[in-house]
Amino acid sequence: MSVPLEKCVVKQCGYVFLMERSCASAGDGGDIGFFVCPQCGTRVEADTAMTYITRRLPDNVGDWPDEGAWT
Ligand SMILES: [Zn+2]
Repeated sequence: MSVPLEKCVVKQCGYVFLMERSCASAGDGGDIGFFVCPQCGTRVEADTAMTYITRRLPDNVGDWPDEGAWT
């Protein structure tokens, strides 16, 4: 299993977060056509046919069984 990680485009931030993508037609309540960095709140334009849900990583990434897949 791979974790959908994204890195903030703002150099001063550089926050790495989880981002789930799905089709906009699925209506899953995500942000349509953009995503927001959960750390600095920067909005990034993306595919308008998709929805995006971003989440912070847990404080202790060691709790994740597949952390080796991130590098
Ligand atoms: Zn950021």
